Amino acid sequence: MKSRQLTANLTQLTKLGFVNAYLVLEEDGLTLVDTAMNAAGELIDAAAALGQPIRRIALTHGHGDHVGSLDQLCRRLDRAAVTVLMPAIDQRILSGEATDIPGRKRGSWPKLETKADVLLEPGDIVGSLEVVACPGHTPGQLAFLDRRDRSLITGDAFTAMGRLEVPSHGTPRFPLAAFATWDRAQALDSATQLRALEPTLLAVGHGHATSAPVADMDAAIARARRAA
Ligand SMILES: [Zn+2]
Repeated sequence: MKSRQLTANLTQLTKLGFVNAYLVLEEDGLTLVDTAMNAAGELIDAAAALGQPIRRIALTHGHGDHVGSLDQLCRRLDRAAVTVLMPAIDQRILSGEATDIPGRKRGSWPKLETKADVLLEPGDIVGSLEVVACPGHTPGQLAFLDRRDRSLITGDAFTAMGRLEVPSHGTPRFPLAAFATWDRAQALDSATQLRALEPTLLAVGHGHATSAPVADMDAAIARARRAA
């Protein structure tokens, strides 16, 4: 796993060159945001390299490339010392309960043995992170805004394989994100909401992080509107 320190508090971990997880430094240790897949050992090693325990695992959405190491991690870590936080709506889909959500659930929704300790709702606070709604890619997709410096971890509400894009339309470099998107109109709305937060750094589920991202977000939203 490739590790890249983005800010004093934020480390990006990249598996197989295309899927990101993040370690967020807090006073009591680390919040791991997303888990990639088959990466438990590498994630644990990355936390050890920072000399801090993983206290929380917070998921942006329920797709397999983001929750895929969760069970492995929970087997290898002291489960009682780690809080698992999952978007409430995506937890219902993962557990097979969410029959009232319209439309086809796209993308991979693996069976997990791990039960979340906390079902996240927009407005919740996780350490320094504020939970922000950005449904569309999945029904329950969430982003995490670090209130210390306004860096924003978006999961797949934006991608940046080559350049920043909204997953509401297919792009040749990374068609997967749009294929896996549940509601394209909502994904575009959510991108606009995230832009309005005026983040200082955008840390996405797939691709590079973007500093001072607002102009690039505007351009991505404009392309998405033209494609809609
Ligand atoms: Zn996804």
